[in-house]
Amino acid sequence: MNVRRVLAPNPGPFTGEGTNTYVLDSEGEAIVIDPGPNNEHHLQAIVAAVRPFTPRMILITHTHEDHAPGANPLAGLLDVPTAGSAPGPEFKPDRILTDNDVVEFGGATVRAVATPGHSADHLCYLAGSALFTGDHIMGGSSVFVEDMSAYMASLRKIQQLPLEVLYPGHGPAEHDPAAVIAGYVGHRLEREREILDVVRSGATSVDAIVAIVYGEVDPALHPLATIAVRAHLEKLAGDGIVRVDEGVVTTA
Ligand SMILES: [Zn+2]
Repeated sequence: MNVRRVLAPNPGPFTGEGTNTYVLDSEGEAIVIDPGPNNEHHLQAIVAAVRPFTPRMILITHTHEDHAPGANPLAGLLDVPTAGSAPGPEFKPDRILTDNDVVEFGGATVRAVATPGHSADHLCYLAGSALFTGDHIMGGSSVFVEDMSAYMASLRKIQQLPLEVLYPGHGPAEHDPAAVIAGYVGHRLEREREILDVVRSGATSVDAIVAIVYGEVDPALHPLATIAVRAHLEKLAGDGIVRVDEGVVTTA
């Protein structure tokens, strides 16, 4: 199986240099993972990358606007079905995939690995010892997390896989998956400890916690930091370590 990357022209603070669209081919057949935004120029670049092969399917990791809206238009150009774990605002799957579902093409297989956390609908795709990680792992930047308990469980889940390479939705391929994933787990645990320390030292509101923990971060990013702190607090509350009552945070 061969992998090639087609970089979408959508660089930005949340997308790095842009979304990575991947074209996988095996024995003359190909599939596409994450067509990215519905951008005419990008869709034509994907069509050109697929052209030597018989296209079989378009997969998405999740329905965020930088990953999925190109899927249905590309499906029209290539005349193939789309697949993902759920429909989204700009995505209609022909096939719904759940954990462990397998897609076959050209004698190769790709297996869906349910990895909620960044978003509830997130799938990674395992092909041999390669994992296409979408936004579960992003090269070189911190992942926005919607549900921290689910996210940590999903990191531990992919730690169990026999991986040699990660192909993230943004940024370069990573060739030391064990170290990269352990780094992500460590980073989250460290942030969780920091937040807990701040709560123990008397901060009782999300804003106060953000001001201390993210004091050095550009204030423009504080709304995102607020979401991150809330996600950590929900996990800590679920673990029975803190309590959040009507916006007041205390240790449990
Ligand atoms: Zn995303």
